[in-house]
Amino acid sequence: MKKNIKNYDLDNLKEELKLIGEKPFRAEQIFKWIYQDKASSFDEMTNLSLELRKKLDENYTLGNFKIVHKLVSVDGTKKYLFDLQDGERNLIESVLMEYHHGYTICVSSQIGCKMGCKFCASTGIPFSRSLEPGEIVEQLLAIEKDCNIKISNIVFMGIGEPLDNFENVMESIKIVNNPKGLNIGARHISISTSGIVPRIYELADKHMQCTLSVSLHSSNNKTRSSMMPINNCYPIEELMEACKYYISKTNKRISFEYALAKDNNDNLEDAKDLVKLLKGMLAHVNLIPINKIDDGKYTKSTNENIIKFRDYLNDHGIVATIRRELGSDIAAACGQLRKQNLK
Ligand code: SAH
Repeated sequence: MKKNIKNYDLDNLKEELKLIGEKPFRAEQIFKWIYQDKASSFDEMTNLSLELRKKLDENYTLGNFKIVHKLVSVDGTKKYLFDLQDGERNLIESVLMEYHHGYTICVSSQIGCKMGCKFCASTGIPFSRSLEPGEIVEQLLAIEKDCNIKISNIVFMGIGEPLDNFENVMESIKIVNNPKGLNIGARHISISTSGIVPRIYELADKHMQCTLSVSLHSSNNKTRSSMMPINNCYPIEELMEACKYYISKTNKRISFEYALAKDNNDNLEDAKDLVKLLKGMLAHVNLIPINKIDDGKYTKSTNENIIKFRDYLNDHGIVATIRRELGSDIAAACGQLRKQNLK
């Protein structure tokens, strides 16, 4: 079984090469070929001897994906469906968004998701497995190559729960951080979680500079549990304790995501509860007009309600913004494209 060479950061790649009797400086050359020159075969690495290229090919793969679908929105957002070429016909999605400050990629961290959030398109299709670090990184490489661009920001908001694939997500961040590779600093990376409390503590203790986003969606346990089964395991009180610990350790603001669904969590009483919950915290609220999924019971709040909700938060000392809806014409809510292709 060949190993995916993109699973290794530069230091680990040096160790790997020692195992096949090569000098560590070769690792830097290979790293450059992969992350700067976007080589998709060892044969392209022309400053390596033919013998070494052959040896690499015998021991490793480059883990290239195949683009199954590419959808382009009127707003320029691009959505990719990738086949992982792992012999299992595993499919994942990634989305590329263009903002004034550069390109942001929304990456998947797992093939499917175990969290079961009721409003999310990733629910209802079977969970296959977690992605390896190289498979997370490949999403960036494949898109940078396809569009001939440089991605500046990463959000872990595609399919999967990143904190349920903790080690591999951390490893993938180490790989993209490397200045000799993709050179994307931790400050340009956001991790979004449904609220796996023990992993939030673990993340806090790592003192990373990534932004943490927490999918809150309601400030009362009854409503949150009805939307997100994970709340039965880690209720709001425990989640907020973990968030406060995270803030005290990192001194970083947490972004709370709140998907507004009509007559579910979008009235002024909900806004009042949210103010009470977040008062005094280093926090920001990201309001998301809920994206209705097939056979989902939640529908989008009216624009009027969304604006009222935001204004109430802002008037009461909680910074809140409404997320721009990018790519809504191409089913950009996570999991939608994969679901259509598995039917
Ligand atoms: N598992 C992680 C990241 C994946 S989703 C998490 O739960 O945070 C990224 C964000 O999109 C989360 O806040 C999620 O709750 C939200 N989301 C998922 N489906 C949505 C939908 N149909 N409409 C609006 N937001 C949605």
